[in-house]
Amino acid sequence: MESDGETSTIYPLAIPKGATKKACELCQRPARLQCTQCRVTFYCDKEHQLEDWVGIHARICELLVPIRSPGPVLCLKADRDVYHAQILFRQTELLDISRAVVRKKLFEGKPQEALPAAQLSLRCTVDLYGATAVLMVPAYLLLAETNMGLGDLRQARQFLCQAEWTVITSPDCGHLIRHQLHRGLGRLHAAAGDLEAALHHFANDVYYASEEFGLDSTVTCGAYFLMADVFVKQGDLRTAQSLYSEVAGTWNSYLTKLCEARVGNGQCPSAAEPSFDEVRLAEVDRMLRTILEELVQKISPITDCAQTAVVQHCRAMLWFLAGDAEKVLEFSRKALQYSLMVPERGLTGPIQDLLQLVQRDPGPDPGPDQTQ
Ligand SMILES: [Zn+2]
Ligand SMILES: [Zn+2]
Repeated sequence: MESDGETSTIYPLAIPKGATKKACELCQRPARLQCTQCRVTFYCDKEHQLEDWVGIHARICELLVPIRSPGPVLCLKADRDVYHAQILFRQTELLDISRAVVRKKLFEGKPQEALPAAQLSLRCTVDLYGATAVLMVPAYLLLAETNMGLGDLRQARQFLCQAEWTVITSPDCGHLIRHQLHRGLGRLHAAAGDLEAALHHFANDVYYASEEFGLDSTVTCGAYFLMADVFVKQGDLRTAQSLYSEVAGTWNSYLTKLCEARVGNGQCPSAAEPSFDEVRLAEVDRMLRTILEELVQKISPITDCAQTAVVQHCRAMLWFLAGDAEKVLEFSRKALQYSLMVPERGLTGPIQDLLQLVQRDPGPDPGPDQTQ
């Protein structure tokens, strides 16, 4: 990033008579400053400009110019249709970028920096679909998650209430959105310490996710992972352990299919699973590490070798897909070490195959989104 964004003062006389007053991008108060690069974004003060620049504006400054500038005067309907299609395409792109930025910032533990992008994703959704559309729900959920990250549970609850209301008033709302809503509500209750309510919402999350993706999907087992954490908090380690095993097993078969598809021995699994970008990879790796820590350190005083082998094998396959041969070797060796300690050696073969594959050819092409 070469700068922190240049601004200039808005001169009231330069704004045409009758034009609406400019509002700050972040707080909607009257603006005094303007981004000098795009000239279509305004701020109340330097602090909000900097916050927005770091949060998202540096990424999208140029993209905003065609979206926010007044359109050309076009006489032919065909030309107007082309122009509107182009704007729609750019707005969709803007929404995708803002959502991706929120996820990345939240994963990096920077909720404050995620806030401008989360606010923008809400505004983009309104522009694209209207304020009452059921597609507002993901935008409210992102804002709720960001506020949970900031520790502002009251604000998070408000956004979740809006999401809930949108679902209640949309009878045609599908399973996907309902699953997302219950996951958000479950997370809020878990954060607030209301563990029974959290479990109730995660159970609904499982129901709707399995209707949409299937019971053996990695999306559905995301709810099991969250439930396991609640059971750990409740001191029910046995239930937590069985849920963690379920999660590890689901990921193991999903990653096995992806790896087989990669080396040309199989079909890619369901295209309905979320795409495997850089952030998702890091999220999954973090989840697997949590399972290892919970299984090994808290739940089983004597290391559970079979489970550890399954999770380490998952990590090896994950990094195989990401093209990091060193990590594949590291985790495959660990997985092998544990799998040899259990009487049932079902995993040993696949782990040895992966090890041999990487030792023979250490460089599968890495790519940002190559696994779908
Ligand atoms: Zn402001
Ligand atoms: Zn700008």
